[in-house]
Amino acid sequence: FEGVNKWYASNGYHVLRDVNLSFAKGEKVVICGPSGSGKSTLIRCVNALEEYQQGKLTVDGTVVGDDVKGIDKVRREVGMVFQQFNLFPHLTVLENLILSPTWVAKMPRNVAIEKAMVQLERVRIAEHANKYPLQLSGGQQQRVAIARALCLTPKIMLFDEPTSALDPEMIKEVLDVMIGLADQGMTMLCVTHEMGFAKAVADRVIFMDQGQVVEQNTPEEFFNHPQTDRSKDFLSKIL
Ligand code: ATP
Ligand code: MG
Repeated sequence: FEGVNKWYASNGYHVLRDVNLSFAKGEKVVICGPSGSGKSTLIRCVNALEEYQQGKLTVDGTVVGDDVKGIDKVRREVGMVFQQFNLFPHLTVLENLILSPTWVAKMPRNVAIEKAMVQLERVRIAEHANKYPLQLSGGQQQRVAIARALCLTPKIMLFDEPTSALDPEMIKEVLDVMIGLADQGMTMLCVTHEMGFAKAVADRVIFMDQGQVVEQNTPEEFFNHPQTDRSKDFLSKIL
């Protein structure tokens, strides 16, 4: 992100203000901040789910902008996991996983199935391959969503509050999968308020408020010695 600014067209709201950030290959970054601070908007810009009006955003050498080819390339390289799973309810787990590899990446069906089963094993859910999403628990559905994102072998994984919609007893099984991915060297940008995860996994914590990156530091420094009144106030509310 180089001087990225974004305004929402519907109401002119200045949601991202002069964002300058860079992420290294293999880096794990946790993004936190109050509700409405622009965290989702920020990561949605990375795979062009949102457009920005000023500045420049580059993913692995490709500018995310108006060029459709560039956007296609970036979307193939960037996996995303949402709070609400966003699985297709009328497709089985396996069909959810092979949809994009077969339609977008034009992978032969048998190859796509083979790859999908590897990812389902990785999130320990292969035995549910032929079930429909609504036959699974929230934690299982979210693991399917992670496996689906991994099917296109992304270079970066974006997570937008992946555990916020889950019952407490299911949070750990999803975080464990994310920790496994981190251990395998995946580049990860995670919006989450799971501070245990941040402490265990993150190389860096970014704190946003009112569309700005207010503070960034190692988890240890950020949690023990927050630098600004805004981050201190935020941490006093969530910890
Ligand atoms: P939360 O923690 O609640 O998920 P967030 O930090 O992810 O919040 P965003 O969803 O990025 O925040 O929203 C940032 C601001 O932009 C909010 O004030 C929100 O109301 C506003 N906003 C989000 N989407 C739109 C939209 N489509 N049109 C206009 N304003 C929007
Ligand atoms: Mg959000």
